[in-house]
Amino acid sequence: MSKDFLKGAKSHYDVIVIGSGLAGLTGANVLAKQGYSVLLLEHHYQLGGMATWFKRRGGHIFDISLHGFPVGMIKSCRKYWTKEIADSIVQLKGVRFENPQFSLKTSFTREDFTKIITEEFGIPFETVDKFFATARSMNFYDDQSKTTRELFEEFFPGRTDVQRLLMEPIAYANGSTLDDPAITYGIVFSNFMSKGVYTFRGGTDALVNKMKEELQRNGVDIRIRCLVEKIELDADRHVQAVHVNGRRITCGAVLSNANLKSTIFKLVGEENFDESYVEEAKAVRLNNSSCQVYIGLKPGVGFENCGDLLFHSEHSGFDVEAMLSKNVSSRTFSFYYPETRPGSDRWLIVSSTNANYSDWADLPEEQYQADKKDLCETTLDCLDQYVPGIREKMDWIEASTPRTFQHYTRHMEGASFGTKFEGLKVSQTLPEQIGGLYHAGSVGIIMSGWLGAVNYGVIISNEIDKHLTPSDAAV
Ligand SMILES: Cc1cc2nc3c(=O)[nH]c(=O)nc-3n(C[C@H](O)[C@H](O)[C@H](O)COP(=O)(O)OP(=O)(O)OC[C@H]3O[C@@H](n4cnc5c(N)ncnc54)[C@H](O)[C@@H]3O)c2cc1C
Repeated sequence: MSKDFLKGAKSHYDVIVIGSGLAGLTGANVLAKQGYSVLLLEHHYQLGGMATWFKRRGGHIFDISLHGFPVGMIKSCRKYWTKEIADSIVQLKGVRFENPQFSLKTSFTREDFTKIITEEFGIPFETVDKFFATARSMNFYDDQSKTTRELFEEFFPGRTDVQRLLMEPIAYANGSTLDDPAITYGIVFSNFMSKGVYTFRGGTDALVNKMKEELQRNGVDIRIRCLVEKIELDADRHVQAVHVNGRRITCGAVLSNANLKSTIFKLVGEENFDESYVEEAKAVRLNNSSCQVYIGLKPGVGFENCGDLLFHSEHSGFDVEAMLSKNVSSRTFSFYYPETRPGSDRWLIVSSTNANYSDWADLPEEQYQADKKDLCETTLDCLDQYVPGIREKMDWIEASTPRTFQHYTRHMEGASFGTKFEGLKVSQTLPEQIGGLYHAGSVGIIMSGWLGAVNYGVIISNEIDKHLTPSDAAV
């Protein structure tokens, strides 16, 4: 008989959280701390969503999305998780760019970028300073029609080198392009520039395990291998229950951390929404997906410090189509040294490229395997210039594709960073359509990435609190 992953679960909870990505985990934690009964349902056998890791023979542990996040993560983790988690966040100081236009190393801070753009690219200080101030002052309520392309042309007309330096890391970090609203760029870029790029010392496994302990301390009922099939509504379009692993569990509210479009079209069904909302939701574009190549070195075998993050490109300028192309010319290498996981003797490298789902979706199995192998080989060819003799030093290599991301997180088309900008409004207005149904998770570029997902989980859990305990009920 198959195992009952819901054994002992209650028949009703105040809140059911669907999905254990960083937004789902954080939302569950905040609500449990406020005293609500919370059931967290995750279809995978591991918590974390895209914030995940896997182990391989020989003691290798690979992180999937632990490449870098802004300093704001320290404050969010201290406030909404634990001091212990916040205290393990450390700065990555070696960010490198290697491309036909320039070769440089930076701490990825405003101070260092200003120095580089003025001294190496010859742009007047006043222009750079004004650009930073403009980006910093951008917020969600600003004009959304100006694109990032227009923002760059305003400050650095015709300077494809400066534009590349400013845009390439952000395109990797959240899939945004020059045609997305400038505010999405300004907000994310300024978050990074305030103090540089940070990581979690100990690896994603340590982080997610600490989060799990905290959730348990706060009384969250955590269930893995639980795939939610349906969100049930009452006659007034209020959430009533979720259907999961053949069971029906009732609740006062649902926080869906599943992909926005899956939540609307698969878990609820478009017949339950206003027509205009359905049209708006259908028009939401998914963000791109990714390919990765994971390389583990033999125990104790290392390499000279190559930096922490290396943006490598053979392409002549910044070009999103080229970045997404299956014919890879741009890669981001993350170098993991033993200090990343104190006590470890492993050097690891993860190469990431942005990718289109359509390039991988329908390949016959044999071709799919051959293309993955080819991706591994071309990655090693490229990496050899930074880590000479990589093939002899290596002990493990494998690749993931948009199909892999879709399989493990159930994101439509394996979207790595949720949806494009228009997804934010559709996500935020979901409760106006269905009483008690909320969405938190990567959307709209701004609410994507580790920090965006955590913060969105907090914002939405506060909305759920207001729904469950209206302020007039407290008096
Ligand atoms: C290759 C790659 C590299 C990245 N690098 C970085 C980086 O360096 N820095 C950074 O800040 N961000 C990075 N990101 C992005 C970041 O990882 C994500 O934006 C963030 O982790 C997403 O969190 P989320 O809350 O939106 O949920 P997700 O991580 O998308 O998780 C959603 C969860 O819901 C579950 N789920 C879905 N449907 C159901 C269902 N029906 N029933 C039960 N469970 C369900 C899924 O299994 C999953 O666990 C990267 C992403 C990728 C793919």
